Amino acid sequence: MEEKRARALRLLDNRAESSSDESDCAPSTAAAPPLDQIPAYLALKQRLGYFDRFGLDNPFRRTHEDLSANRTTVNGRSCINFSGYNYLGLSGHPEVSAAARNAIDRYGTSASASRLAGGQIPLHLELEHEIAQTLGVEQCVTFASGYSTNVTTLGHLFGPKDLVVHDSLIHRSILTGCQLAGARRLRFPHNDWQALDRILSEQRRNFRYAAVLIEGVYSMDGDIADLPKFIAVKKRHKAFLMVDEAHSFGVLGPRGFGVIDHFDLKPNDVEIWMGTLSKALASSGGYIAGKAGMVEYLRLTAPGFVFAAAMSPPNTAAALTAVRVLKSEPQRVARLHERSQLFLDLAKTHDLATGTSGGSPIVPVITGDSELAVRLSDELFKQGIVAQPIVHPAVEHSAARLRFFVNALHTEQEIRTTVEATAMSMLRLRQSPL
Ligand code: PMP
Repeated sequence: MEEKRARALRLLDNRAESSSDESDCAPSTAAAPPLDQIPAYLALKQRLGYFDRFGLDNPFRRTHEDLSANRTTVNGRSCINFSGYNYLGLSGHPEVSAAARNAIDRYGTSASASRLAGGQIPLHLELEHEIAQTLGVEQCVTFASGYSTNVTTLGHLFGPKDLVVHDSLIHRSILTGCQLAGARRLRFPHNDWQALDRILSEQRRNFRYAAVLIEGVYSMDGDIADLPKFIAVKKRHKAFLMVDEAHSFGVLGPRGFGVIDHFDLKPNDVEIWMGTLSKALASSGGYIAGKAGMVEYLRLTAPGFVFAAAMSPPNTAAALTAVRVLKSEPQRVARLHERSQLFLDLAKTHDLATGTSGGSPIVPVITGDSELAVRLSDELFKQGIVAQPIVHPAVEHSAARLRFFVNALHTEQEIRTTVEATAMSMLRLRQSPL
């Protein structure tokens, strides 16, 4: 039994099966294999065979056949859904859908060029104005992808003479942006502003600019950055602060205006506000907001803006209408907060390990074992509940988890059913390892 279990774990582990770095990099006189035969891909294929061998549904291949909201349809079956970022239920909202349809009727489905090369439509400017005004900052610029918003902004604003210091759990897009910048990159333990303070005390003087990079709500753990403390530290060291609000804009604060609304702080204390349009705002794309000069500089020179096609008309209209509905239907934010709290409270009552999650709609259930996370996801799916596992190498085995995204449309009953099913299934699976 132990041997079988160890093998299963190895199969989920990226490094255990793939060839070592040294052998991958060693100069070779042999011809390179075709790209569908490279060792990394063969190792991946072998790992994916795990699902078939143990008769499990591969959660990474699930396809949603209708709207992703509190429910979704997978394999023709209606399921309770905790796998989408549709926090306010605005994807599928009649006004948001109608705005997207109207934009298609007027402008077509594509912007057909980058903004500077003829792709700009009035909706882009209206959306940027709406976001800037909501945040209380001077200006905003939008990009066609949230991921590339971070990559191109960081890669463009910072360079080898600069220092970037980020939270240890920061999103991959920010890490990639830092790499592109070629800046000196250091990280501090999650949410530890005192460690950041120490790093800046030692290092700040050696660099031209220093930038501190944090998220409003952390996407894996569902906890909130201690923003007032980070603002105090960055001011002390004359550093810039960038906050990625992918999971906090539309979510945190009494009005849902994000982390600034939650802490009741001044928006100008943060130099770079970043957000995505793909989560609470029911669309696709990203934004950077702050001082007019910084925004104009990005608008005229950031490669991911200048050389990329503009956000499509329906996406732009959907995001614009979503921001307006956020303001006109504040009960959605209140409902989201209430339902998120219910999920967390029930999970704690059932002794599920929810880590540092609190005050956000992201609730992880930490299994501490990749295999258990995959089996738990499979077990819940059989019971008509969709929640995705996060396994090694995305996180350490000990941090493997199922991640639940609560949204404003979830009913109390859906939440109760899900938490109870999770607790019961976890108990059963722990008693019967593979
Ligand atoms: N930042 C964070 C914190 C994210 O979680 C994500 C994606 N989930 C992104 C940026 C990238 O945004 P998008 O998916 O909209 O490209």
